[in-house]
Amino acid sequence: MYKVQPVEIEKRGDGSIRVAWSDGHEGIYPAPYLRESCHCASCIEEWTGRKVIRPEAIPKDIRPLQISAVGQYAIHIEWSDGHSTGIYAFDLLRSICPCPVCVLAGIIVQIRKPFLHHKSITARAGHGPPPC
Ligand SMILES: [Zn+2]
Ligand SMILES: [Zn+2]
Repeated sequence: MYKVQPVEIEKRGDGSIRVAWSDGHEGIYPAPYLRESCHCASCIEEWTGRKVIRPEAIPKDIRPLQISAVGQYAIHIEWSDGHSTGIYAFDLLRSICPCPVCVLAGIIVQIRKPFLHHKSITARAGHGPPPC
């Protein structure tokens, strides 16, 4: 199975991280956003998958101190707030890409869902298509 992999990971001056992918895609991850998305055992409750980390507890000026590769599947980030167990699998990293293309794709999915729901309700009620 073909999987995209980061070909370039760059720490930027403002603390954000730029990731260039093997399929030509590129995304810039703001540091607090990436820190909040950490899926390690102390940030996500193992049994429920609930986020334990509170966004307001993340320093606004958080920085990645060290970024290293973990085998062929993930990167490890050591953060300036002392959190050093952050492992970001490539799959996860790509799925949380905050670039406009990925965000827009996410928005379209979010819009489409309630629209379909709405349509099925009006169909049952015997009305025409919902007004835009
Ligand atoms: Zn963590
Ligand atoms: Zn993207």
